[in-house]
Amino acid sequence: MNNEVRVRFAPSPTGYLHIGGARTAIYNWLFAQKTGGKMILRIEDTDVERSTEESIQGIIDGLTWLGVTWDEGPFFQSHFIKEHQAAARKLLDSGHAYKCFCTKEDLERRREKAKKGEITSKETDLCRGLAPEDVAAKESDCIPYVIRLKVPRGAGSVAFKDIVYGVVEKQYEDIEDFVIVRSNGQPLYLLTNAVDDIRDRISHVVRGQDGLANTPKQILLYKALGAPVPKFAHMSLTLDPKKAKISKRKHGELVAVHFYREHGFLSWALVNFLVLLGWSTSDSREIFSKEELIEAFSLEGINRANSIFNIQKNDPKFFTDPKAISVNAHYLRNLPVEEILPHVKSELEKAGMWDPAYEGEKRDWFARTVDLIRSRYHVLTDFGTLGRAYFADDYPIDPKPLKKNVLKHEGLKEWFPMVADQLEAIETFTPEEIERVMREMAEDLEIKSGIIINGIRTIVTGQAAGPGIFDILITVGQERVVDRLRKAVKFFE
Ligand code: GLU
Repeated sequence: MNNEVRVRFAPSPTGYLHIGGARTAIYNWLFAQKTGGKMILRIEDTDVERSTEESIQGIIDGLTWLGVTWDEGPFFQSHFIKEHQAAARKLLDSGHAYKCFCTKEDLERRREKAKKGEITSKETDLCRGLAPEDVAAKESDCIPYVIRLKVPRGAGSVAFKDIVYGVVEKQYEDIEDFVIVRSNGQPLYLLTNAVDDIRDRISHVVRGQDGLANTPKQILLYKALGAPVPKFAHMSLTLDPKKAKISKRKHGELVAVHFYREHGFLSWALVNFLVLLGWSTSDSREIFSKEELIEAFSLEGINRANSIFNIQKNDPKFFTDPKAISVNAHYLRNLPVEEILPHVKSELEKAGMWDPAYEGEKRDWFARTVDLIRSRYHVLTDFGTLGRAYFADDYPIDPKPLKKNVLKHEGLKEWFPMVADQLEAIETFTPEEIERVMREMAEDLEIKSGIIINGIRTIVTGQAAGPGIFDILITVGQERVVDRLRKAVKFFE
């Protein structure tokens, strides 16, 4: 008996990798990692009109960025069309399928009759009972046909135990003889997907809940093809705050994996967040390292209830689910700083502020600075925007604190150059010395030291909030601080 776990991620390459697809991939991958099984990547590209090379590459890049690995593939469904056709022939030969020559109109007429009770629902598919010679005659008359699976008739049902949803049962009489090959010879998705799962020896089909409706039919196909039926785990849907299904069409880029990459997410933070959309542990824990997640993950822990992806469309601060942001911030602030540095490097490169010395003589300064400022950041892009003043001398000053902390206190126009002189005179630029200068200045001028401190913070960093003032000044450095304070006069003009 072969108990090997084999799962697959089987995206249709008709657009970018979206967060729903990524979540499916992640669940499959975690399950394979946990069980020591194999993960297969299968690109379901048989819809030639909608499948694109660009999308295939996007899916592969997205998975790679997320760190979702696979052991076999990518396989391309379109390469196996002969196999799909052979399976259909096998089903015809074994009497599990039949050729149906009915036109759409024929079928509709009969369905109407069945609705009125004039014929039984079983009589809607008349070709099911055609004698072989009648089939041959119709074929020689070149009448087009589709191939339908012969669903068992009479009392009975297809039942299976979904790992997430429990027992699902569908009566035979509620399943029509469904089409498996179109009249143009093209095998249909239900067949191709099942045939590929059989060939790939998939043991567990872990997919979105939208697949649930197909499962009874696919189980009939497995059985008719004499193949073992895999286990199924269907995942609940992800909805937007208004309870509408998340979709590329409706939510655009906000549901694309690449969007999160471009907006400063650490890939593991996104994985961690996506896993929580529809899966939880009994203690509702939220932060997991890769090893912890693999250890904790189970298909049984997938929630039946749909999850909400709390997209914030109009809030510039939280451009996405605040929980996603907070998970990302957690990693940004708590991972060893060494792991963050390469990401900051690429942010600074993008912002045109990278200095190769940060990997040379200024390495310690760079690491210390990143460590200092990251405690308030949420996304990597914050280093290039909010953190600009640390890495460049042309940085914007947030107008609000400029008004409140600087312009409102006219005296600062004179006091800034005075502090600059005092700070310049310090021999060793230490927190104690800086503190002494500020205290003495405040005392001499008979003002609150907060006025000087907030003013300096605003001028030196461009921001109202940030690390402690001594840390800021030491990090930015004596010379640059002095220079910035002297130039601050221009804001009063
Ligand atoms: N290609 C299908 C999709 O992207 C896969 C469904 C399945 O996993 O069986 O929805």
